Amino acid sequence: MTARVPAKVNVQLAVGGLRPDGFHGLANVFLAVGLYDEVTASPAGAPGVRLTVSGRDTRHVPLDDGNLAARAARLLAERHGRAPDVALHIAKDIPVAGGMAGGSADAAGALLACDALWGTRTPQSELRALAAELGSDVPFSLVGGAALGQGRGELLTPLEVGGTFHWVFAIADGGLSTPSVYRECDRLRVAAGTGADADSVPEPRPSQPLLDALRTGDAAALAASLTNDLQAAAVSLRPSLTDTLTTGSSAGALAALVSGSGPTCAFLAADAESAEAVAAALNASGHCRTARTTTAPAPGATLL
Ligand code: ATP
Repeated sequence: MTARVPAKVNVQLAVGGLRPDGFHGLANVFLAVGLYDEVTASPAGAPGVRLTVSGRDTRHVPLDDGNLAARAARLLAERHGRAPDVALHIAKDIPVAGGMAGGSADAAGALLACDALWGTRTPQSELRALAAELGSDVPFSLVGGAALGQGRGELLTPLEVGGTFHWVFAIADGGLSTPSVYRECDRLRVAAGTGADADSVPEPRPSQPLLDALRTGDAAALAASLTNDLQAAAVSLRPSLTDTLTTGSSAGALAALVSGSGPTCAFLAADAESAEAVAAALNASGHCRTARTTTAPAPGATLL
């Protein structure tokens, strides 16, 4: 049983102050994009979860219990009171630690593929609840399309999207750790004198112009309203991202931003032709490992 699961870009990522529980409140608009991991669940030759991974740059993907796909398989098995015996294979195309929720995609894929292999017929609502236990981005990987995430990102409201958007992703060598990017965001807020706690930072709110641009499928309006509160922190930790962002903008992208916690950079293009030109300029520049064109919205986790 193979599930195909999309990557995401955050078209709005508004980060509130650091809360006493160590999390940040978010207003997070997710858009699923056409880069996919595939998770295959097969009958196990031995007890437990056995995991293999293929693809580029997979040396940083844990093969033990720390892998989100393995955790997803165990959680589903536990919920159904059965043994978690399965051979899982992840074919990775989503950059690792790239700010595109690759690990969350694999968790969503494992839930769907194991549910089909084991015949456990878990209702959608229950799969969503299990996904939320695994991580704040996992429910979105299941549903895809576009959605507003609030709270820690796990309270999801599906959003209407009125057209196809053309994107280019500049994939970097190496990743950035999401917790360290949040820490840098807090550090920059303190250094700027605004403070980093929930009393000092305004409550994050979804942007109405951005939601309207998604609904009407208006790429220029979407470009004008893209924001990522983690961008300054990602650039502070990886200053060379400025060159990547400038290269795509100079090649005609409508907008350039860091994807989530980075270091992948995302470029919104007016059409497919412009996206190809932006990707060609990025590939020629040496400012990224590779640039890929794709479209959004993409569907959520799907059994093939
Ligand atoms: P996000 O955008 O959700 O913050 P990300 O795309 O930046 O995440 P991931 O690729 O999800 O990052 O990986 C982050 C870390 O999670 C990796 O460095 C790795 O240690 C761990 N990890 C656990 N399971 C996986 C998995 N299946 N694929 C990739 N990384 C995984």
